[in-house]
Amino acid sequence: TACDDGGDTETAGGNTSTTTNGGSEEVTGEGGIGVILPDTKSSQRWKSDDPRYIEAAFKKAGVKDYSIVNAEGDKEQFKRLAETMLDKGFKVLVIVNLDSVSGKAVIDNAHSRGVPVIDYDRLTLNGAADYYVSFDNEAVGQLQAKELLNCLDQKKVTNAVVAELNGSPTDNNATLFKNGYDTVLSAKYDSAQLIKGPDQWVPDWDNDEGREMFSLMLKQYPNIGGVLAANDGLGNSAIEVLREKKLNGKVPVTGQDATVQGLQNILTGDQCMTVYKDVKQEADAAAELAINLFNGVKPGLPDKLKDPESGLYIPFKRLLPKAITIKNVKSVVESGFVDVNTLCNAK
Ligand code: BGC
Repeated sequence: TACDDGGDTETAGGNTSTTTNGGSEEVTGEGGIGVILPDTKSSQRWKSDDPRYIEAAFKKAGVKDYSIVNAEGDKEQFKRLAETMLDKGFKVLVIVNLDSVSGKAVIDNAHSRGVPVIDYDRLTLNGAADYYVSFDNEAVGQLQAKELLNCLDQKKVTNAVVAELNGSPTDNNATLFKNGYDTVLSAKYDSAQLIKGPDQWVPDWDNDEGREMFSLMLKQYPNIGGVLAANDGLGNSAIEVLREKKLNGKVPVTGQDATVQGLQNILTGDQCMTVYKDVKQEADAAAELAINLFNGVKPGLPDKLKDPESGLYIPFKRLLPKAITIKNVKSVVESGFVDVNTLCNAK
């Protein structure tokens, strides 16, 4: 595995820090490109991966005026940060919304001042952003379900009761992930190869709430045989509950984001899989578009995504996710996304 034979080797450019603060809470500078991230709790990425790669992309392109801030899960704060940026004459906004309503308010505010907006990772429904940069999020969900089936097969579990711990009901991505995994799982429920168990959404992707919910699920359905958890944080919440019952490693659990914790859970055999989304690609794509917009250029993109609420087609930079299991954890280290020492030594 990644730690047995890679533990001592140096990797180029790995992330040694998982504690960068996810962008400050203060807007700095004027007239540049503003980036507003959502929170620092629902996934490691917003705290460490995205700010690191976005900043690197700006620096590489020689952009001096940019500010990367984090709304810390507070929608009012999210709107205030945008307002401050617009007041300070920022020329482009890149946002990850906390929900579509507050996201739309920010986009409307920006547009009323002639400032274009890029939806980063999460589409703002009805928001009419100028661009959307993200992964094929239904494909993410399909990978989760397919690997869950593989793990159940490997453990020779048949007719498993599958629990679904979905993401936030106000995150359009959570809907897309679920669409993806439900297309795969429904076929198995229909043919009675799997049994549909509890199925719940976790508000704001809150890991503590997810743990409470899963704990109740397991009380109600003690025979849960597999868990489709929408990301690594929620997967870990389920794993913690399973551990108390000594069911960890027996009941496969999915995840997403290739977080240090998720990868460690895979290495210990407690987690079936995660989804690696190459955040560097996503950050690079958003930075490139933002810089073009800053310079008054509106590049065309081959893909468009239909906003299911407004019916509007948003130019879409579509990136591809990759499934990670115990077999290829190493590839995440090799890509530089996670540092081998952080992965193998941190607990
Ligand atoms: C992102 C995931 C992340 C989740 C919780 C989603 O919109 O696509 O990568 O795990 O939000 O932050």
